Amino acid sequence: MPDPQLIIIGAGPAGMAAALYAGRARIKTLIIEKLGPGGQMLWTDRIENYPGFPDGIAAYELIEKMATHAKKFGVEEFSGEVFHVGPGETKNCIKVKLETTTLCPRAVIVAAGANPRRLGIKGEAELTGRGVSYCATCDGAFFKNQTVAVIGGGDTAVQEAVFLTRFAKKVYLVHRRDQLRATGVLRELALSNPKIEPVWNTVTEEIEGDGAVRAVLLFNKAAGERKALPVDGVFVFAGMQPNTSFLPQDIRKDSQGFLITDEWMRTSIPGLFAAGDCRAKPLRQIVTAVGDGATAAYAVEQLIG
Ligand code: FAD
Repeated sequence: MPDPQLIIIGAGPAGMAAALYAGRARIKTLIIEKLGPGGQMLWTDRIENYPGFPDGIAAYELIEKMATHAKKFGVEEFSGEVFHVGPGETKNCIKVKLETTTLCPRAVIVAAGANPRRLGIKGEAELTGRGVSYCATCDGAFFKNQTVAVIGGGDTAVQEAVFLTRFAKKVYLVHRRDQLRATGVLRELALSNPKIEPVWNTVTEEIEGDGAVRAVLLFNKAAGERKALPVDGVFVFAGMQPNTSFLPQDIRKDSQGFLITDEWMRTSIPGLFAAGDCRAKPLRQIVTAVGDGATAAYAVEQLIG
């Protein structure tokens, strides 16, 4: 495989937008994705807040449109995982290690996104896939007429709790605060839904079950009380952790491991850019991911000249 000028790691919205802009700038670009295109968009059913689609758009349809658009300008694709990124032999090269080969582009855009943060409580790992899930679109239909708990209070938790009411007869929304962090429209939707019951000021301490989820053990911080809440499923939406393990240890990150960049998406390593959810920023959404991707590709264009 000849060395491209630019490698983009990840084909979520940030990577696909970067590919589109890099392709149009006629930068010789390779986009590497270990699964399929779409990233976290694969984990949801409908996107209601992406500009240009006032009636919302099915997530798979938006993925298809973005992937087609990204390919239109000649960017090459490679299906595989990047295991390591580090300084190359020369000043003008960054080493990108794949399973069977190592490439040496002039610039790299890390658009590797993020994965759900685990709660790290007893029962969670053992019961994952046996009633504990991080993806309502993937697993929601298994809980038809059953009772589930959604853990979290941000946009994703609330949006997915509403989605789960299509299947479940009851959705407990367990949140550690006394109000939801989610944006206004989502809050209203959830709190007016008769199938959703918020459980405020509460942390989940354990997930109980033997081969299948039976209950969540909850601690109400305001009342100082513990109780077992019987449920058939638990959906965890407790934030994300960035996919950055393949990067040099000394790259600049925030306290949660997100990559720190300047407004050109430059990381602390020359030639290495970051875009999307793996980056330290206030809002992790599709619309901000594509903005980051476009900016990063533009910055690479300025660098390469
Ligand atoms: P990601 O989408 O995470 O994509 C990263 C890609 O990189 C993945 O495909 C991954 O496989 C790949 N990758 C990672 N490491 C490697 C490696 N080493 N080698 C090769 N490939 C690699 N946002 C909205 O705007 N509206 C919504 O309605 C909405 N709903 C959501 C619902 C759910 C359930 C979730 C989880 C998220 C939702 N979001 C929503 C958030 C949105 O999906 C993300 O902000 C967005 O996808 C981030 O894009 P990204 O390209 O930065 O990363």
